[in-house]
Amino acid sequence: MCFYDQYQMYCGDYKWGHFRQHCSKEYRTGETCGMKLVMTTIPKRDKCKLCSKIDTKKGRIVKEQERINRWQHEQKRGHQRVASIEASQQQIAQLEWEIQELDYQRNEAMQSTR
Ligand SMILES: [Zn+2]
Repeated sequence: MCFYDQYQMYCGDYKWGHFRQHCSKEYRTGETCGMKLVMTTIPKRDKCKLCSKIDTKKGRIVKEQERINRWQHEQKRGHQRVASIEASQQQIAQLEWEIQELDYQRNEAMQSTR
């Protein structure tokens, strides 16, 4: 077991930081074993990489949704926007799928740092 810093990210996720100290068992060999223990927990004001990516994609979904709303409004006034709306809806579905994938990766990462 070896000691590491741990970052507590703004989003509540944890991330391993720098290696700090060998445990007594591994001290002589100068190697680090696979087990990580927390030396200090350092709060960070950033979100973790995965949550930042999720935020970006959520922001894009909001933008797409705004575009759809605008087009639907234009349609009511007689403009043809069906193709644009459909393309945008597909884009949203794609983004939602990507978010799910990132969320899954986030859960996996959480299990390895707790
Ligand atoms: Zn996070």
